[in-house]
Amino acid sequence: PLDPWYIGGPVIKGFGRGSKVLGIPTANLSTKGYSDLLAEHPSGVYFGWAGLSSRGVFKMVMSIGWNPYFDNKEKTIEPWILYKFDEDFYGEELRLIIVGYIRPEANFPSLESLIAKIHEDGEIAEKALELPLYSSYKNDPYLRSS
Ligand code: ADP
Ligand code: MG
Repeated sequence: PLDPWYIGGPVIKGFGRGSKVLGIPTANLSTKGYSDLLAEHPSGVYFGWAGLSSRGVFKMVMSIGWNPYFDNKEKTIEPWILYKFDEDFYGEELRLIIVGYIRPEANFPSLESLIAKIHEDGEIAEKALELPLYSSYKNDPYLRSS
C-alpha cells in the first residue's frame, strides 16, 4: 500500500467545471508547497479521508493531475468528498490524508464515459476505506486539527 500523504489548506476556486459540467464537485486545494509531493506521485486517482473544519470527516476520492479531458495547463488537486452537502464551503480549511491509489489518469472519448468512470472510482473508494488498513486513518488528529 501507499505511504499515506497529508495535505491541507483552504478550499480555493477551481475552473468551475467539476460540479457544473460533471455533476461531481471537487474541492480544490492550492498546490503551493506541495510540489515535491506532487512530483513524487504519479497523476491519477487516489482515495482517502477529508476533514472539514466545521463539518467533520468524510470519505473522498481525488484526482491529481492535468485532467487530460480538459487539457489543463497546471496540475490540480481535486478531492470529491463522498457526501452530499447543502452548500459550498469555499475558504474552509480542508485536510486530506491520501491512503490509496486507484488508477492512472486517463483520457476519455466522451463526458459520459468520464462521469461513469468517476462514479466507479467513488464506489471503489467507499469500499476500500472500510478496510481496517484504511479506516484507521479516519481518526487521525490531522483531520481535525485546523
Ligand atoms: P471549482 O472549480 O471552483 O472547484 P467545482 O465545480 O469543482 O468548482 O465545485 C467545487 C465546490 O463545491 C467546492 O469548493 C465546495 O465548496 C463545493 N462542494 C459541495 N459539495 C461538495 C463535495 N461533496 N465535494 C467537494 N466539493 C463540494
Ligand atoms: Mg473543483
